[in-house]
Amino acid sequence: MSDTVLDLPLQYLKGVGPRKAADLKKAGLLSVDDLLFRFPLRYEDRSRLQPIVSLKPGETAAVAGEVLHASLTPTRRPGFRLFTALVEDASGQVQAVWPNQAFLKDVIRAHDDIVLFGKVEYWGSRGLQMTDPEFEILRPPPRDGSAGPGDAHDEPETLHTGRIVPIYERTGSVTTNMQRRMVWQALERLPPTLVDPLPVDLREREGWPSRREALIATHFPPPDTPIDALNAFATPAQRRLIFEDFFVFQAGLALRRQQNAAVTKSRVPVVDDRVRQAARAVLPFKLTAGQRQALAEIVADMQKPWPMQRLLQGDVGAGKTIVALVAALVAMENGFQVAFMAPTEILAEQHVGTLARWLTGTRFRVALLSGKVGSAGRRTLLPAIERGDIHCLVGTHALVQDPVVFHSLALVVIDEQHRFGVRQRGLLAGKGVSPDVLVMTATPIPRTLALTTYGDLEVSVIRGLPPGRRPVRTLVKPDSRRDEVHALVRDHITSGRQAYVIYPLVAESEKVDLQAATEAADHLARHVFPELRVALLHGRMKGDEKDRVMREFAAGQIHILVSTTVVEVGVDVANAAIMVIEHAERFGLSQLHQLRGRVGRGPHDSTCVLLYQAPWSDEARERLRAMVETSDGFVIAERDLQLRGPGDFFGTRQSGVPQLRAGDLTRDADLLERAHEAARRFVEDDMLTAEEKGYVHAVWQRQFGMVAVG
Ligand code: ADP
Ligand code: MG
Repeated sequence: MSDTVLDLPLQYLKGVGPRKAADLKKAGLLSVDDLLFRFPLRYEDRSRLQPIVSLKPGETAAVAGEVLHASLTPTRRPGFRLFTALVEDASGQVQAVWPNQAFLKDVIRAHDDIVLFGKVEYWGSRGLQMTDPEFEILRPPPRDGSAGPGDAHDEPETLHTGRIVPIYERTGSVTTNMQRRMVWQALERLPPTLVDPLPVDLREREGWPSRREALIATHFPPPDTPIDALNAFATPAQRRLIFEDFFVFQAGLALRRQQNAAVTKSRVPVVDDRVRQAARAVLPFKLTAGQRQALAEIVADMQKPWPMQRLLQGDVGAGKTIVALVAALVAMENGFQVAFMAPTEILAEQHVGTLARWLTGTRFRVALLSGKVGSAGRRTLLPAIERGDIHCLVGTHALVQDPVVFHSLALVVIDEQHRFGVRQRGLLAGKGVSPDVLVMTATPIPRTLALTTYGDLEVSVIRGLPPGRRPVRTLVKPDSRRDEVHALVRDHITSGRQAYVIYPLVAESEKVDLQAATEAADHLARHVFPELRVALLHGRMKGDEKDRVMREFAAGQIHILVSTTVVEVGVDVANAAIMVIEHAERFGLSQLHQLRGRVGRGPHDSTCVLLYQAPWSDEARERLRAMVETSDGFVIAERDLQLRGPGDFFGTRQSGVPQLRAGDLTRDADLLERAHEAARRFVEDDMLTAEEKGYVHAVWQRQFGMVAVG
């Protein structure tokens, strides 16, 4: 790709000095290629210049004419000035008004030829005016002789008006008009042909324009392009580039997958009657059909000669842990070790407990390696792991970074809270072994996000829940009715159940939130439920204190657990039957669903109360309504993605969702699906040329900082 200008840094464009380059860089725009793949936010049709006489109030229109006079006028509001210009064409006159933009007096002058685009309004009895219109001065007379950004000969007569105009998101000091000028310049310099990462026959089948044509038509659409199609990002040019964006990324994932399949793993377990018998012996209950299916897929992968890379999806409470445990048992029965990684220390501790309980009566030893294991503990634990005396090691994601040496690691189970994206999974390979990897998601992920974040993995889905689960009754209440809610909590506790009261903990206001939770716990304990045991749990507490509280709650010694979102994932106390979520309007849908999954885990009737503080946004209302309407995590995940968009879905910056440039996972889901299939097919059938592979490799390296393809 070095034969094009696309690789050039943006400073190469005229008008882009160090300051602007720095602002652009902050937004992730480094090269001309980045700039051209940053789509306009929207388009405005400023192409039809109207005679001024035909303007009607209320419409948005473009006109061209001469500035008769222009001046800055004070208003009655102190310090508030209007810049006005009277513009005339052969048919009539219109007044243009720019509030509070005094600098325009040096920009717009009498006798300038100008194009205006904006909303037409009545201007008292005197006629019509356009308020704060977009404008462009044609053939500006030389002012001070110096050449400004974008020399006149680089630009067509009108760039910002008199055509369908792209509107870009402002980037620091770089305005939409500056960006438009930069894009124009960049497009002017494109060579006649560009290397195209899309395979030719694919492009021909779709009838898509060439890469060069698509770039030009996306930024400066030909005059006859339907504006609605442009704003829906549905023109062939736009679709082609979006597809390309997806295709390149998916091809990278497919290449990774292929590369993985070329690795021969040293530890392939045997599954015979003895192993099957051992598995049956640890099972405390009958697996559901969904669990059996997932387990069969996992065990089949484990028996392949290359490492398993599989994602296990299932709703909260679907029973993923036991499936992973049986897979672990298959490995251990073959004399191999298993590593089990949880997203938090609390969960790691809980997993150790669960696994140890299930494995009682087997010869296998489970151990926890956490931050709390001191150096003395490590001195005995690490050699035991290295000797193979520990069969199953549980910890947080730090296990991959920790200098742990295994004796015969064959399976890694990652129970994650979306924190272990494509990038981080690469770290495992760095351990120098090629274990089977099973990733379990804590909550369902919409298909499009799964395709991008986990597109290199095979997917198993457990649909439905274990038998006997009853849906959790969900209520939405304003926090002014907290008294009623407390009565409800008391009812549940009187019938022997326990309760959670959840407070949000947002990073920006962590201190305040923590205080709110602390005060609430205090208030509940002293004034509302003085006869009950109320305890507080939050992430800032010391490990052993957290432990004690969790253990007491699990043992039924605490009636009400007031907690920040540390209970979010995985915590399993079957007797807890009511959850009150304070400030539910602040949580995302998937997180609410995840929280609600902490109740309804036993045979009891359970309730989740979503308390909100007015005023709430429409979006918040929508979210809480969705919680009442459905308990299907897959449905909730799709809604969440629609409401919040992919960037926020995982609610964390290190979510591992790769930054796609042109594509939008919600809007362009159909293209993503097709790009995924096409990329897998082209890679599997080895139909990508060396040049195409090289391009995929280059984009991956630059955009995602990953070298692991090609
Ligand atoms: P998750 O998929 O959210 O990780 P868990 O693995 O924690 O769910 O399982 C939720 C609860 O359901 C646990 O208490 C588990 O013991 C129980 N469970 C799992 N599978 C079954 C089953 N087939 N029959 C009955 N209970 C089950
Ligand atoms: Mg779980």
